[in-house]
Amino acid sequence: MKGRRKKTTATLSDRQAAYIADLPVSYQDGMRKALIDKSLAYAVKMKCRDCCGFENATERVRDCNITTCPLWAVRR
Ligand code: SF4
Repeated sequence: MKGRRKKTTATLSDRQAAYIADLPVSYQDGMRKALIDKSLAYAVKMKCRDCCGFENATERVRDCNITTCPLWAVRR
């Protein structure tokens, strides 16, 4: 099917694994879903959490007013 990306899984590089290990535990599964399972929903969610420094992220992402960010309309 043209224009559709086949969803595949990946393995983590050493750098990615170290990054995930340094995250708060509550975000580690989500980051694995983004990086290993290639979930676009989790990619957006985790990028927004990363943008907020993983602190009070749910509220900060909800209240984000950076409407020029390409993720703003689809933030979760
Ligand atoms: S939508 Fe807001 S919280 Fe998400 S990446 Fe963009 S600026 Fe950061």
